[in-house]
Amino acid sequence: MHPKGQEEALAFDEREWGDLPPLGEDPSRTYRLGIMGGTFDPIHHGHLVAAEQAFDDLNLDVVVFMPAGRPAFKQNKKVTSGEDRYAMTLLATADNPHFTASRFEVDREGVTYTADTLELLRALYPANVELYFITGADAIADVVRWKDAGRIGANAKLVGATRPGYDLARAQEAIEESPYTFDVTYLEVPALAISSSYLRERVMAGQSLRYLTPDQVTGYIHKHGLYGASGGRYGQARR
Ligand code: ATP
Ligand code: MG
Repeated sequence: MHPKGQEEALAFDEREWGDLPPLGEDPSRTYRLGIMGGTFDPIHHGHLVAAEQAFDDLNLDVVVFMPAGRPAFKQNKKVTSGEDRYAMTLLATADNPHFTASRFEVDREGVTYTADTLELLRALYPANVELYFITGADAIADVVRWKDAGRIGANAKLVGATRPGYDLARAQEAIEESPYTFDVTYLEVPALAISSSYLRERVMAGQSLRYLTPDQVTGYIHKHGLYGASGGRYGQARR
């Protein structure tokens, strides 16, 4: 399914990859692209471990971490700038050769919908590249209830990862009750009962983020005073 005007398949080297991994050049093989979407405010080890498990279990070629632009469902909440969330995502994924971060959503104007993102990616990648949209047990149940859920199922396979505090069986019910068809793989990931909200609360309370997110992310949070962090930059923090 291609958006209007893109019915003609593009030649591999004519595609505008931007910061997305160029995949699909060899027509005789299938490629598997993982897409880890999220607000990532901030990114933490729960996101990273889920993506790593999906990479291994599903034999993915690469996982793209895509911080949400203006998430449709978080419009009434205060969200850190896309620039800061992207920077932290880049820092957290930098040392993993099969992870990458993309500005694909943060650079899009207006509210960003997952259905649109997946449709655009489907049009960009050749047909021998399968798209796997990775979510936790909470998010997958939401995704299949959205009004555009049909387009999501048409353009990507879904990966539902276990997440402490959320019931994957409930998500499965939501998927079965949906009028649309989804190709879902359920995934057991090492349980980390952490969330971005919890990390934000800890920073606010002056508590450590060590072992919850990569140290580079903690450094960035303090350097830029995110979530009420103390710290400072350009020498201010030197005491
Ligand atoms: P917040 O508390 O702000 O909602 P969050 O920790 O839920 O943040 P999101 O950016 O909302 O993070 O989630 C992005 C994706 O990562 C979602 O699909 C979510 O289900 C998944 N995810 C988040 N934390 C975990 C975790 N600890 N284990 C497994 N999956 C997770
Ligand atoms: Mg969440």
